[in-house]
Amino acid sequence: MAVSTSVAPLSNPLLLDLFSLYAAKLGVLPAGLIDHGADKRWRCETCSRWISKSNLKNSVLLLSDRSRRVPKFFPDVVGTGVLHNRVVDILHNEGCTGFEAHPIAWRELTEWCEWVGPKAKALEWPQYFRIEISGGVDLDWSLIDADPSLRCPECHAVFPGAVRPKAKSLLRLPVEGTWDGCDFSTWRNTWPGETTTTLCSRRVVDLAAKYKWTNANFGRTVPPDVWVGSPISADWHAQITARLKERHPELFEESPARDL
Ligand SMILES: [Zn+2]
Repeated sequence: MAVSTSVAPLSNPLLLDLFSLYAAKLGVLPAGLIDHGADKRWRCETCSRWISKSNLKNSVLLLSDRSRRVPKFFPDVVGTGVLHNRVVDILHNEGCTGFEAHPIAWRELTEWCEWVGPKAKALEWPQYFRIEISGGVDLDWSLIDADPSLRCPECHAVFPGAVRPKAKSLLRLPVEGTWDGCDFSTWRNTWPGETTTTLCSRRVVDLAAKYKWTNANFGRTVPPDVWVGSPISADWHAQITARLKERHPELFEESPARDL
């Protein structure tokens, strides 16, 4: 049976209401981020694959052991879901929902500053937080998989031994009516072992514009291929809509008229 590949975005209000948040330039500050061990480990009941979820409470920011470069500034967004104290305060004060912020320690900061010298010691090193997302929305797999039988219907990982399925499209769109309305959400129906996509509401992007967050990018997956980066201008939504219309006109096509 032929599967329709058309998207009906006008009936999908989430297209311009949910965006992914990530850092504009990864590695702008620390050398990396590590998690201390998996928090939970369980087996998928359908395909028996082991799934592990890292404990975000034990994340640590690493500083480079090769470079003595002292940071020029501390950006608001350091990595996907890794936010400056200032941003977390804004989110809490504005009553944003769907997240819990866990403080991240700098690994061996005192030693690093000792190694680098007075310039590093003189800096005021901010507290960063990693957000654990509790909101959810369903990913529309029907737009992605050419052959859905290669993927476990429960955990959405590729079945053991199966070749990676051919992608039908790169569209990562939410299923209408499945968003719980939280300001921070992630795909509910993807393999938990995959990197978490940080989805956020329009309100969060408006806050990023209002408070001039640095090093933040919004977009790319929802809506696809289209994004805005820091500094976010006040008319970001109009900009992103115009660009989306240009690159994906098919997403804005009106449904065919019923009575011709
Ligand atoms: Zn499975």
